[in-house]
Amino acid sequence: MFAVVLLLLPLLSAASPSKLVDRHDDNDHSHTAEKRLPSTWYHDAAHPVHELFRRGAPTDGATYPVVGSDAWAKAYPPGPPASPDVTQLPTEWVNALNAAVARGAIPNIPPSTSSDGNNPVYPNGLDPNGPEVCSSTEKCRIDGDIWDAPDGYVGISFDDGPEAGTQTLLTFLDQQKQQVTHFMIGSNLINQPNDFLAAFNRGDDIAVHTWTHPQMTTKSNLEVVAELGWTMKIIHDSTGGRVPKFWRPPYGDSDKRVSAIAKAVFGLTTIIWNQDTEDWSLTETPPGTTADKIKASMQQWLTGPKNPGLIILEHELSTDSSNSFIAAYPVMQQNGWKLASLAQLMGNNASYFNAANSGSAVSGVLDIIPAANATKSSGSSASAAPSGSSSSSNSSSNHSNANAQ
Ligand SMILES: [Zn+2]
Repeated sequence: MFAVVLLLLPLLSAASPSKLVDRHDDNDHSHTAEKRLPSTWYHDAAHPVHELFRRGAPTDGATYPVVGSDAWAKAYPPGPPASPDVTQLPTEWVNALNAAVARGAIPNIPPSTSSDGNNPVYPNGLDPNGPEVCSSTEKCRIDGDIWDAPDGYVGISFDDGPEAGTQTLLTFLDQQKQQVTHFMIGSNLINQPNDFLAAFNRGDDIAVHTWTHPQMTTKSNLEVVAELGWTMKIIHDSTGGRVPKFWRPPYGDSDKRVSAIAKAVFGLTTIIWNQDTEDWSLTETPPGTTADKIKASMQQWLTGPKNPGLIILEHELSTDSSNSFIAAYPVMQQNGWKLASLAQLMGNNASYFNAANSGSAVSGVLDIIPAANATKSSGSSASAAPSGSSSSSNSSSNHSNANAQ
């Protein structure tokens, strides 16, 4: 794998975009990551992350704050622009980072600098494409990170939620009985707790997309811990104690240091993508793309080769971005793709370390987490039983095939 990356470096460098957008090249990937998925999945079962998030039964008759309540929201740091204060981190997170550094698990790469959406620049002349840094913004693939779905599959995921497009998306997914993955921004949960609960309670995978959505390679080790840790904690606290297994770096911006912190401290697997709709720019001023352009891109990808499978970058930022997925969904079906959430693709539908799958209970807690108020903002989806919705998905019956590849 390493040799393959080295051989491809000149090609990757030449193809690197000046902006943080993905670009697909049929020659720029191997199938190594995809073949690795099933066999490595449960190797992390004894990961020390279990010591960082331990939610036992409430003591002394106390109860956990209700999701969406003021008491619940007050337990977390402010949202963007600044990353959470690193002097306020739980001691055990800092100790876990220090232990990982001490055992040589975290490469000593300096943070990059970058200005708004531009590619990261490293000090001391470090090559972002070199084997020491291996910047995912430059399409360098770190061993263990995920870029491709298994052949024949579309792994469906949405970034940046909960946001303005979440309700539109969930209503459609309920109609289709389709399970997906949500890479959620931790601080967004504070703003839209009911939409978060609607996604979780329908059985979707809840994954990590950082607390304030920064370019993570620009952050210090402690800031990386803060961005990941607080997002894991709010998901853990708000899902009856589940500990998420996946994260996606905002802008796809990671490197060997950031990816190693995610894995060594929190057990998180980094998931990027191999196609980008640029749907995030639909609501820019002026818009960076159009529904027609996205439709044309989708048509091209979905009628193209099925090896490797597709992981398409999509967002629940706006109704327009959600509608771009909705428009493409029948094209996926008509072209014979098997559709699945990332957890369904990558290991017995396990999107959490301590739950068998998205819909199964963590010992001693409820499957359905009540919201702070009785009025659900996402209509019927909030009351759907997760175990039923995921097992009835049209993709879950093919799951064993994914593992066999
Ligand atoms: Zn994002």
